Amino acid sequence: MEFIEWYPRGYGVGFKITSKILEVQSEYQKIELYETEGFGKLLVLDGTVQLVEDGEKSYHEPLVHPVMLAHPGPRRVLVIGGGDGGTLREVLRHKSVEHATMVEIDKKVVEVSMEHLKIDEGLLERLFRKEEPRAELIIGDGVEYMKAHKEHFDVIIVDSTDPVGPAKLLFSEEFYRNAYEALNKKGIYITQSGSVYLFTDELLEAYNNMKRVFDKVYYFSFPVIGYASPWSFLVGVKGDIDFTKIDIERAKELELEYYDPERHETLFQIPKYVRELLEKE
Ligand code: SAM
Repeated sequence: MEFIEWYPRGYGVGFKITSKILEVQSEYQKIELYETEGFGKLLVLDGTVQLVEDGEKSYHEPLVHPVMLAHPGPRRVLVIGGGDGGTLREVLRHKSVEHATMVEIDKKVVEVSMEHLKIDEGLLERLFRKEEPRAELIIGDGVEYMKAHKEHFDVIIVDSTDPVGPAKLLFSEEFYRNAYEALNKKGIYITQSGSVYLFTDELLEAYNNMKRVFDKVYYFSFPVIGYASPWSFLVGVKGDIDFTKIDIERAKELELEYYDPERHETLFQIPKYVRELLEKE
């Protein structure tokens, strides 16, 4: 058996499957979980790969640590989406964090991840039981949550599905404005923004929407196992944070596998094709 995610233009990313663990339809999406031949468990939402167990850090590390290390001392962090728990797990590795909030729309994704995927090191169960002193889980829509908060967060991380269905509004100019307002005077925002070559139009639209809102916007890409790599990330800054500089001392405590803080500048080696598109905008 095999699972293939088909991207635009007939490009596919596939895995050999040894067994299907489950398939459930939640209120928001179809959730599938497989055992793969070589990468551990595979989580799929509405036919799109969310992560493979042996390789998820190639996504969660570049999503979380560059922005956390560029902020001088993040205390309050917001994660939108991220139901598998990997993003919050990485956020809590930063000792400066006093409180992290995760707002996930689909309770079923959290339950499936907690019971079967288990990349979260017990975190999701502690959140359900309200036993995690530095973090809380809110089951709700990130769009609505963002509207209700002003000057509160140091870092906002959007770990959402792609810009369709419940995640579509997470890439709109209005949402970015609300996120800007929700950040403290000095704050930093990051979102995953899709495959560089296969979702180029969506990426450029999100980039332009962010440029109309944030004081400075950065693009970087990273090779992510399981996605149509390279995968893109967009960073928006409020106030005087320079995302090209990170705190290398704090980075040493993290023992990372994929994102290399000592080579932070390599994040910005943009393929010529993409650089020219971004410069045109
Ligand atoms: N790493 C993944 C990727 O890029 O393919 C994303 C992983 S995470 C499981 C994505 C989560 O975002 C899903 O569980 C989905 O339910 C959640 N999500 C989508 N739209 C949302 C919204 N408006 N508010 C909160 N969570 C949302």
